[in-house]
Amino acid sequence: MVQPESDILLKKNNSRMRKDGTQNTKIVATVGPACNSYDKLLELVQAGVDVFRLNFSHGTHADHLKVIEHIQYINDKYNTHIGILADLQGPKLRVGKIQDNALPLQSGDVITLVNEPVLGTREKIYMSYEQFAEDCNVGERIMMDDGKLVFEVLETNKVDTVKLRCLHGGILSSNKGVNLPDTALKLPSLTEKDLEDFDFIMTQPVNWLALSFVRTAADVEDLIRRVEAKNHPAKVMAKIEKPEAVKNIREIIKAANGIMVARGDLGVEMPIEQLPITQKEIVQLCMQFSRPVIVATQMMDSMITNPSPTRAEVTDVANAVLDGTDAVMLSGETSVGAHPALVVQAMTRIIEQAEKHYWPQIESKRPRAVDRARTFQSDVICFNACRVAEEIGAKGIVGMTTSGYTAFKVSSFRPNSRIFIFSDQVQMLNTMNLLWGVQCFYYDRFTSTDETIQDSVDILKNSGFVQENDYIINTASMPLHKRYRTNMLKVTVVD
Ligand code: PGA
Ligand code: MN
Repeated sequence: MVQPESDILLKKNNSRMRKDGTQNTKIVATVGPACNSYDKLLELVQAGVDVFRLNFSHGTHADHLKVIEHIQYINDKYNTHIGILADLQGPKLRVGKIQDNALPLQSGDVITLVNEPVLGTREKIYMSYEQFAEDCNVGERIMMDDGKLVFEVLETNKVDTVKLRCLHGGILSSNKGVNLPDTALKLPSLTEKDLEDFDFIMTQPVNWLALSFVRTAADVEDLIRRVEAKNHPAKVMAKIEKPEAVKNIREIIKAANGIMVARGDLGVEMPIEQLPITQKEIVQLCMQFSRPVIVATQMMDSMITNPSPTRAEVTDVANAVLDGTDAVMLSGETSVGAHPALVVQAMTRIIEQAEKHYWPQIESKRPRAVDRARTFQSDVICFNACRVAEEIGAKGIVGMTTSGYTAFKVSSFRPNSRIFIFSDQVQMLNTMNLLWGVQCFYYDRFTSTDETIQDSVDILKNSGFVQENDYIINTASMPLHKRYRTNMLKVTVVD
């Protein structure tokens, strides 16, 4: 039987399925009704998706479970390492139901938000957060429906009732999101719903767990402790979507395993003209601290309905690539859009073009090993592996890892050659699939360093990534069985 071309591609390229197999910037796609069947998910993987995001703001646990099973099946069948990112909703505030699902508001109108669930009218609208009246202060701004409606606090009785004056009108409909950019909220970063979702997620082979509306490093540390208590290998990603998080960004990056620039809510909560520079600064800092970073939201928004992107969207994705992001993300475009596969294909092509102009832009942003770090020696090896690779024109850098540390470090340097990571930890391989340029291989024969290096050469040669007389740079930890951090660097000629 003739194998369909797509199957051959899948097998040959291992974790990356793009035709040329050379792209470094990863694609995260949100799963929803438009793409949650097995066939659709596979189609998106073939189009270039590296990580699927399960959005716990929508869908049931049964829905998510089915998707997880499909992804696992794809990984088994096609020898891929597609990662799974579970995104907790967090303390997202909403208004309740609105009468007739439409309340027209004009600037100057005054509305009242209350604590009791009522059908919303001009007189009373339910707001989902109990301590709202207590936390907010006169003069603070309140936004609704992605910032389309703007209000200011006129009065609060500090118990259960808040009067707002409308500054920018529009039609308010049921369950719209509420953003409080000026207010210091006392509510916890994990809601009851989040805790239920968390318990479910901890029973699943999820690689990344995203925390919404992070405010401080303590929010992140708390979730990491909870994951550790479950003995689950998932890594924790902090979504930066509040000005408070931007203020605390260094500590949050250090505390978290990864970062998402969540431009949706961030664009509502901060002056939107500051967003481009904030994005660049966060991406740069993440590279410095070797934390993977995702640029998210509205990257290809018009493709929710249209078959091709706008000029502005193409430019946005290309600029995120040139900023140095690890991954770009799709939300509604793949979860509820009309053309999920077309969007991913378009994104793949934009990345391919942008990456042709990558290294001159990135040179000055590369991290340096810091001699105060506990990991200084290993970091020096990782970064110099990249430098040597560049100087001798090596095809790739090979890393062996259990913890993933080498992959995070080497990737953050954004080397001008491929990154081949070998590990016997299947879950960790799928986790590392989010990282810039990292290509994952399952390998479990850790006998001696010499043999392992020869095996890596054979595997890369057999799968077509390198040819005779190519150079590769091997990093390793000697002696092998001790599984120390990377402490060795070797130039290998493929024979
Ligand atoms: P969300 O997060 O899609 O869960 O709101 C992303 C964002 O706010 O940009
Ligand atoms: Mn958000």
